[in-house]
Amino acid sequence: SYFDTKCKGSKALIEEARKYIPGGVQHNLAFNYPFPLAIDRAEGAYLYDVDGNRYVDYLQAGGPTLLGSNYKPVTDKVLEVIKDHSPVTGLFHEYELKLAKIINENMPWVEQYRCLASGTEADMVAIRVARTFTGKERIVKVGGAYHGWSDQLVYSLHIPYTKTFEAHGIPSELSANTTEGYPGDIESLRKVLEENERAGGTAAVLIEPFGPESGTRMAEFDYCTKVRELCDEFDALLIFDEVVTAFRAGPGGAQGYFNVRPDLTVFGKIVAGGFPMAGGIGGREDIMSCLAAGVQAGKKRAYVGGTLTANPLSCAAGYYAIKEIVEQDAARKAGENGDKLCAGIQKLIDKYELPFVVWNIGSILHFEVSGVMYLSVTDPDIFKKIPARQHNIEKFGAALTANGIITLAGSRIYTSMADNDDTIEETLKGFED
Ligand code: PMP
Repeated sequence: SYFDTKCKGSKALIEEARKYIPGGVQHNLAFNYPFPLAIDRAEGAYLYDVDGNRYVDYLQAGGPTLLGSNYKPVTDKVLEVIKDHSPVTGLFHEYELKLAKIINENMPWVEQYRCLASGTEADMVAIRVARTFTGKERIVKVGGAYHGWSDQLVYSLHIPYTKTFEAHGIPSELSANTTEGYPGDIESLRKVLEENERAGGTAAVLIEPFGPESGTRMAEFDYCTKVRELCDEFDALLIFDEVVTAFRAGPGGAQGYFNVRPDLTVFGKIVAGGFPMAGGIGGREDIMSCLAAGVQAGKKRAYVGGTLTANPLSCAAGYYAIKEIVEQDAARKAGENGDKLCAGIQKLIDKYELPFVVWNIGSILHFEVSGVMYLSVTDPDIFKKIPARQHNIEKFGAALTANGIITLAGSRIYTSMADNDDTIEETLKGFED
């Protein structure tokens, strides 16, 4: 096969790595079938493995590199910052302010901003702040949504309609205050909020604004508006998890796209421009001030720490990346690439009469070859088009890789500003093969 003949270097490395690293890789995102590839470098729209094979890169590191990988104007600035200021100072640095300001300029409902280490951490902090501010304990989320892997939020990960844990090692009492509605279903959210009223009320409703897993179960356009209204009715805070959508959905994020005001916003990925420590929360000044450690007399404080949060390196990377994204109109360009790619894949599906489904929201593109993970999109007849026989997403992803295309888990694509007609043509040829 392709992997045995063309990926010998990867295979040798992963075999050795399995001795020293659980599963051989340090990140669960790495696709593992038939074995993980060892990547040498990422550049623009491409990835290169240690055997010198080149792939069109639609993983884009899981989403942070909207400008394309290793975007030189940002990388160069970050290298200057390291040289001139050191990657870490341990105290306040002007780049923290620059980052918070540029986020606020583009997303005015983010009045104040606090840096954190990851999207997972930011989601944890958002619910802690919401509980501190409201004095209530319960939170509501949507089945199948991903808000990182913390004890209280990993609940029902990828298992939208059951209350089973896929993730082990979490005492059940830790998720006792996490309640769940069905994807895209306002009435089920209302029911959960009503039930919670009898148990002390709801601190916050936490949603991914494009629908669970970045729109794998896409919500109606007015879904977020309706969730906002429900939150007001039940006096709960509305938290948008914009780990993926902030700056990717447009400079104003999903909140700008839908014109719906959340009380708190969770950030990750793009907020450090493809560099580490990609996380943060922002929102209303009166709520965010719970984080002002000991400064605000008479206010309840939500304690949050972090040795390396808010270091000049990550803040400068985020600041320069957002600046470039806005100046280059990167979200629109990446979105147009997503539209072209989606239309091209749809044409192939039609040409070969395949029981597959593809859809996109700008630069986030999903394709469905299995019928397992995706439970509803906007087309109500979509599942009639998918046969009972379940295809194997992993094998489909591996087949794409063998044809020069790397996707996120064989079912999602993040386009970037670095894609162009050539990469799209190359991709469509790979899909067709
Ligand atoms: N929320 C959403 C919507 C995400 O997509 C992710 C990561 N894919 C997270 C939270 C967690 O972010 P991180 O991987 O930085 O912990």
